[in-house]
Amino acid sequence: MRFSVLTSGSKANCTYVESGSTRILIDCGLSARQTEVRLRALGIDPASLDAIIVTHEHSDHINGVPVMSRRFELPVYANEGTSSFLRGVFALEKFVTGKSFSIGELNIAPFSIVHDAHEPVGFSIEGQGIKFSQATDLGKVTPLVREALRGSHAVVLESNHDHDMLQNCDYPWELKQRISSSHGHLSNESSSAFLAELLHGDLQHVVLGHLSENSNTPELALKAAQSQLSAHSLATLMCACIANETPLLSL
Ligand SMILES: [Zn+2]
Ligand SMILES: [Zn+2]
Repeated sequence: MRFSVLTSGSKANCTYVESGSTRILIDCGLSARQTEVRLRALGIDPASLDAIIVTHEHSDHINGVPVMSRRFELPVYANEGTSSFLRGVFALEKFVTGKSFSIGELNIAPFSIVHDAHEPVGFSIEGQGIKFSQATDLGKVTPLVREALRGSHAVVLESNHDHDMLQNCDYPWELKQRISSSHGHLSNESSSAFLAELLHGDLQHVVLGHLSENSNTPELALKAAQSQLSAHSLATLMCACIANETPLLSL
């Protein structure tokens, strides 16, 4: 299995995952043009993609979905709550939250997360005995999220804001409340505490995602995560960002 976070942050989110001959995108918040550019930079032909799976309807996750799906004739997989927001896609395939489904060689388990969207999900994806999980846009770590991510070999985990930076930034009070609420986004502190629970001998890659540009820095997010690792060594601990794709990480 290989994956790359093509972009992540408040403005756009898109992750590439492949196993065997199956290639998918999780969300497509970038323009189709930028998505193509970043895939090609990794040596991936966009025409070789098989599908797009969608977490929720916020624009930073679906902006590029219709054009990308039509241009490359990609079926778009979404649950009932999200699918009504996906107009003009090549083909819509519905999944049921909590029920696994297959795309080619990938087995995909969508799990419910708490966030201010209609039916938001994270995904655990298995292929060739390897498990990749992504959980971003969640206000809190629920028992279901813990269960879904357990035993992952690679994790993309939200580390949205530093608590103090959020309180001190010039967002309106209501927005600060929304972000830090249980239906908002995961702080560095909550994310790193959860990371400590996810550590096991076969966890290789951790990519921190959905960092706020106004109330976080990659240094603060990494510092919080590193404080939980101590003796545990990962092959990769890095932050994804808006401007560039991460390297293609192999498992
Ligand atoms: Zn988002
Ligand atoms: Zn969102």
